[in-house]
Amino acid sequence: MNKSLDFHLEPPDDRLISLVVPVYNERVMLPLFFDRVLPVLAAVNLRHEIVFVDDGSEDGSAVYIRNEIKRTPGLRLVKLSRNFGKEAAVTAGLEHARGDAVIVLDADLQDPPEQIPAMIESWQSGADVVLMQRRSRAGETAFKRWSAHLFYRLLNRTSRTDIPVDTGDFRLMSRKAVDAILTLNERNRYMKGLFAWIGLPTRVIQYDREPRAAGETKWDYPGLVGLALEGLTSFSVSPLRWATVIGLFAASVGALFGLWIVIKAMMLGDATSGYPSLVAIISFLGGIQLLSIGIVGEYVGKTYLETKQRPVYLAEEVLESPVGVSQPLNTRLAEASHVKAI
Ligand code: UDP
Ligand code: MG
Repeated sequence: MNKSLDFHLEPPDDRLISLVVPVYNERVMLPLFFDRVLPVLAAVNLRHEIVFVDDGSEDGSAVYIRNEIKRTPGLRLVKLSRNFGKEAAVTAGLEHARGDAVIVLDADLQDPPEQIPAMIESWQSGADVVLMQRRSRAGETAFKRWSAHLFYRLLNRTSRTDIPVDTGDFRLMSRKAVDAILTLNERNRYMKGLFAWIGLPTRVIQYDREPRAAGETKWDYPGLVGLALEGLTSFSVSPLRWATVIGLFAASVGALFGLWIVIKAMMLGDATSGYPSLVAIISFLGGIQLLSIGIVGEYVGKTYLETKQRPVYLAEEVLESPVGVSQPLNTRLAEASHVKAI
């Protein structure tokens, strides 16, 4: 009787799942976040913890999480000393997560937590990285969708690291993958690129991206253009090559045109009518020179920032629920029945 009972009981998987959640002024979102994420986690038969990284919020998000920590087990708060940006916040979260698998999730519920069980399943069947690819982007303007599309194509054309199209930071990583990410110690952290750089067995799950449940996006267009430039120059040096090629092209056209003017003057004696073309050529070349210097400057600036070796973020405090990680209900039941069986 006992034998057959033992046979049916699988040994409980006591591995730990960590959620990493960057939070910047998400006070209105947090109650909704808990309401939706906690039931999903409770249904997953694994131990779990949630690591919130408060990225210098000014709307009391940290206070809310601190109160929640007092009554909910398995929560952690890493409070950064100021706003360092999402990329730094995610890095901080990865460093503080202790899980055997780590899932990065936005606080605004645009990454549907209902996908978590499927992600965990993929990981349990051997994937080191489970990528969540957006099938749709509800609540985003057509222009944002189009520019994002164009950017990914450009990025993948210019760099040797293949950065998957339409994926964000929403993904699961095994301990091996997280440790690999953490060995990449560059300061300019373009996370999507770093995530792609490590490789490892990857599985892709498609999902529908939801509109923000409340609050506002922290990205404006200048911010997105900055991130795009960051991505391009962090993962590729080909813009430097474009500058060379364009310069070479402009110089050849200029030389040919000069030659043509000399020949024309010698053959037709027409030496005075060059003024408009001169202005055109000067502004064209001036523009190209400035562009090239700008591109070079982008890389020089990056090198400068890297050489300072400053930390990516500064944590002001780290708080934790008194009851460490949260035990799944099923494990407790399994343990109880095991005790009974003996
Ligand atoms: N975020 C952050 N630091 C920032 C900006 C954003 O930690 O400086 C967090 C934010 O709280 C959210 C996630 O990053 O959990 C995604 O931000 P948002 O929704 O504004 O970006 P979008 O979804 O529009 O790309
Ligand atoms: Mg969002």
